[in-house]
Amino acid sequence: MPYVVLENCIKCKFTDCVEVCPVDCFYEGETMLVIHPDECIDCGVCEPECPADAIRPDSEPGIESWVKLNAEMAKIWPNITQKKEQSEESDSFNGLPRKFERYFTRNPGKGDL
Ligand code: SF4
Ligand code: SF4
Repeated sequence: MPYVVLENCIKCKFTDCVEVCPVDCFYEGETMLVIHPDECIDCGVCEPECPADAIRPDSEPGIESWVKLNAEMAKIWPNITQKKEQSEESDSFNGLPRKFERYFTRNPGKGDL
């Protein structure tokens, strides 16, 4: 039962989650992070750390498209293990509707570089 990053991470990307993950299984896209399902050990430590409430176990009903997206993007985006400075706009995007259609991109983030 790996954990998954959901829509509200988009454009918030607070990155508090990466600091607590014991197996460094977060990957960074331009506008959100994802969790690699084969690397996540299901410890659940990251879920309460996310200020955007955007992390859930993959068993939660209704999040199938996010389970698929995490698995797909984790294969091509770079690994991120260190918290980054939060963008000034992060808070203003927290909770906005339709973030996926408005702001999601498949472009990679910079990872730990
Ligand atoms: S803490 Fe939450 S909003 Fe921030 S990067 Fe992690 S999943 Fe996304
Ligand atoms: S559940 Fe544990 S292993 Fe999985 S992403 Fe969160 S902190 Fe990492």
